[in-house]
Amino acid sequence: MDYQKVCEIITKIPDVMPRRFKDVQFHKSERCPMDFDPCSFGDDKRTLFLRHDIDHDPFAALEMAKVEASFGIKANYYFLTNDTSIFHYENPDRREKALTAIAEVEALGHEVALHYDCIGEYLATGKPLAESIEEPLQMLRDFGLSIEGCVAHGASRVRILAGEETFPLHLCNYQTWNETNPDSKTFHANDRDLTLPGLSLDDFGLKYECYFTRKDRYMSDSGGLLWRFWEGQEQPFEQIREVPGGSFNDWIQSPSGDFEVMQMLVHPVWWVKSLGMDEFYYYGTVKDSSHEYTQRVYRTW
Ligand SMILES: [Zn+2]
Repeated sequence: MDYQKVCEIITKIPDVMPRRFKDVQFHKSERCPMDFDPCSFGDDKRTLFLRHDIDHDPFAALEMAKVEASFGIKANYYFLTNDTSIFHYENPDRREKALTAIAEVEALGHEVALHYDCIGEYLATGKPLAESIEEPLQMLRDFGLSIEGCVAHGASRVRILAGEETFPLHLCNYQTWNETNPDSKTFHANDRDLTLPGLSLDDFGLKYECYFTRKDRYMSDSGGLLWRFWEGQEQPFEQIREVPGGSFNDWIQSPSGDFEVMQMLVHPVWWVKSLGMDEFYYYGTVKDSSHEYTQRVYRTW
């Protein structure tokens, strides 16, 4: 499936509106820590939060952002600056290029924000959680970007260091926050102790964490395997009711209710071929776009 086809389906459905998280007023409710009233937009449409986690290649993000902009779609981009993305931020020249691409994504009308792996960084190096949030935020904001939210990276290094081979996962980056995780718990991994939650979103000027915003239905292209669907407010890392191989067209056309809220995670790195790129970055090295990873999304709908 081409990414252009995904955009075409989204824009052809009259009662679906892609929205940015930064345009939403969140409040805590029994349903979830960051609830909102989907009727408040006054357009009688279902809300689609199109979310992109940028684990490898900020330039692939920019190409995806251009395609969406050509369809009039506004999406939400979350940039990881450590772990699998460190290559782009560890040297001033590369950092400048990456930040320039991110600024272009924002200029196209999309939201740009933070994808974080503070727990992986702490377990691997001992770096305090707050520094792993503050440093990239400052870098992005100093470049003139407006950052209001974040989303956790499902870091494979956290799973490896914590010895977690199966779902549900017990240690995830989104457990960092006081606002969303009331119960304190201490973990021990890689000879380090970690008590969570430890930080407040508010202290960093962050309004939301995508995993805790209202989502009546959730879908993802994780692993390049289309598509995986979840229902309700549970987190994808906590339960295993994922169903690969479903139809995107059927999913988006069949509402679970009026004014429903959908969150859809798409990683640009799986779609580089349909974004017209010959090469892309994967773990900091250049791969040809005929690489096996980039073929998976074309096998299924
Ligand atoms: Zn990620």
